[in-house]
Amino acid sequence: MTHELDHGRTNAAQGSRIDAYIDRYAARAAGMVASEVRALFAVASRPEVVSLAGGMPYVTALPLDVVGELVADLVAKRGPVALQYGSGQGDPDLREQICEVMRMEGIEAGADDVVVTVGSQQALDLITRIFIDPGDVVLAEGPSYVGALGTFGAYQAKVVHVAMDDQGLIPESLAQTIYALQTAGNRIKFLYTIPTFQNPAGVTLNEVRRRQVLEICQRAGVLVVEDNPYGLLGFDGEPLRALRADDPDGVVYLGSFSKTLAPGFRVGWALAPHAVRDKLVLAMESAVLSHSTFTQLAVGQYLATQPWREQIKTFRELYRERRDALLNSLEVFMPAGCSWTRPSGGFFVWATLPEGLDSKALLPRAVAERVAFVPGTGFYSDGGGAQHMRLSYCYPQPDRIREGVRRLAGVIEQELQLRDTFGTGSARWHAGIDTPGPDLA
Ligand code: PMP
Repeated sequence: MTHELDHGRTNAAQGSRIDAYIDRYAARAAGMVASEVRALFAVASRPEVVSLAGGMPYVTALPLDVVGELVADLVAKRGPVALQYGSGQGDPDLREQICEVMRMEGIEAGADDVVVTVGSQQALDLITRIFIDPGDVVLAEGPSYVGALGTFGAYQAKVVHVAMDDQGLIPESLAQTIYALQTAGNRIKFLYTIPTFQNPAGVTLNEVRRRQVLEICQRAGVLVVEDNPYGLLGFDGEPLRALRADDPDGVVYLGSFSKTLAPGFRVGWALAPHAVRDKLVLAMESAVLSHSTFTQLAVGQYLATQPWREQIKTFRELYRERRDALLNSLEVFMPAGCSWTRPSGGFFVWATLPEGLDSKALLPRAVAERVAFVPGTGFYSDGGGAQHMRLSYCYPQPDRIREGVRRLAGVIEQELQLRDTFGTGSARWHAGIDTPGPDLA
């Protein structure tokens, strides 16, 4: 036994690429696999590559000098509090401010039901931790947010995708899926949904369907987890009413300051029915004791002293211009047979390739041509999505977006010519494409 351990350490110390610990991990570690987005970041961050891949907010648009002063002031004036441990539930003043933010989406809630988390990603982790036993079912839109799928996988949930179209989740498909799963004896723990400006599809659940989805889940006894980081980044009119606004007992709502302020603060939250809230606080404490008091107070100070609604408007205008640049250039450059969604907010367009093309196979060529995207398969847990790709317009400037789409369209054209010359499934067509380079492995 000792010998075995030593052997493992030696291999690890020598930086061996063979994982000497492979037979010692807990079973749940098998579900922890690198996402497609993650493997891409190394390549896509090279300056010559136009990245339509990552979903990074354009934080450069913030008044960074003001934020800097605010942070310095916080340490100088409230250092002993800001640099101390805080409560597991989060700073009470910030929780009040969060309720004010949520009111913009029709949510009436008390600060007592809010738990501040390390981004909404941690809220997702905690929710999964308290609800999921291995093999339990989580329903999710197909496609769905890659980071959530990673978390569900890490807790050994069985993810079942529910079909969506350009109006969001399809209620009939949801009802049928729930019925089939429950009849077969599965435990469905919750529906994970991003109803507004969905990641990755860019679509929004319409008003009628919002009511239907809630009714279906209420009737079937399925909790709804509403993930809404983009809700305030709509390009037309007022923010949509959150699902949580109409069902306080059946919905856990997840929010975040990552897109409306900055992801670097890592401040998000969960709003949950009382009992669930209690479990979340306990799970939070066991994970990190307490969130960073420092960044919570910084966000609180920003909300209390800065025109944050105006700043969100600035972000909205900026992202609208980039959305327009992407949609216009797709129209101009993309070959026949491609289609895509038309988001009215958020960061993402979901594109569909012509029949027989595989976005993952296309990626190494696209990167060689200095443009990156995320292949659709990253957004499904069942291997679906090969004919799709996610295009993000949040980070590059409009002229870079146009150049990126021009390059991408060229790659797709080439791929179509190969397909038409050699036929789909041809070994020659795929030669050299299926093997990713070291950066993409
Ligand atoms: N949910 C969705 C749908 C997201 O797109 C993201 C970030 N890309 C998150 C949750 C996590 O965001 P954060 O942890 O920064 O709040």
